[in-house]
Amino acid sequence: MLKIENLHIDVEDKSILKGINLTIMPGEMHAIMGRNGSGKSTLANVIAGKDGYGIIAGDIFYNGESILDWSPEDRALSGIFMSFQYPVVIPGVNNTYFLKAALNAKRKHNGEKELDAAGFLKLIKEKLAEVDMDPKYLQRAVNQGFSGGEKKRNEILQMLTLEPTLSILDETDSGLDIDALKIVAAGVNKYRDANRSFLVITHYQRLLKYIEPDFVHVLIDGQIMKSGEKDLALELEEKGYRWLEA
Ligand code: ADP
Ligand code: MG
Repeated sequence: MLKIENLHIDVEDKSILKGINLTIMPGEMHAIMGRNGSGKSTLANVIAGKDGYGIIAGDIFYNGESILDWSPEDRALSGIFMSFQYPVVIPGVNNTYFLKAALNAKRKHNGEKELDAAGFLKLIKEKLAEVDMDPKYLQRAVNQGFSGGEKKRNEILQMLTLEPTLSILDETDSGLDIDALKIVAAGVNKYRDANRSFLVITHYQRLLKYIEPDFVHVLIDGQIMKSGEKDLALELEEKGYRWLEA
């Protein structure tokens, strides 16, 4: 589903990613772990198509096609979803309106019928229940005045509504208390299936107790220094990152 080949990325003339190789097959859950500043968000942002990154070398393939010159919108319409480490606030745009517009843009792109207000309301109520969110959040501006945890839940609500095939979750666990973490993890786990893939970024092992990855990769200074299965996360919890640093 996703293949990253020898990816080198500069930000403001500084080398941040230094030759990333990563293959994610359909149905797989991959976790990227690493200290602050190791390049995790840079990798996520480059896959989602955020601008401001210098692509020095390498390529990113999604379902076999290079997406480097695709716009962020085209990537999203094709099924790539990104939950931001710092979710954006969109003042003046009602959360329901935002979700409905995003979903209908995607349905239209897929040749499906757009949902009317009643159809959307029915769908969104089911999704809200899955992340245990109060319907009152639908009437607020997107993420405006939301607590850290509420923003993260809202991101998962977006994921469940848009039904992406590749979901990139950047530190979705940060700012969540333990109950919220379990709810978010349950939402993600329920969404897992053989045709959907995930790239989950975290620097704590805590999240991976609830969302069990198939593979764990350790990013150190812009390079994947070690890959393993879920036990690697436990090993990191115990030993930290230092033993992997050059
Ligand atoms: P992580 O998500 O692993 O904490 P990031 O990908 O956010 O790491 O950042 C990796 C490195 O790139 C850091 O040293 C950070 O300061 C730098 N960086 C990221 N974005 C920018 C930017 N817009 N301008 C300058 N430096 C940046
Ligand atoms: Mg980050």
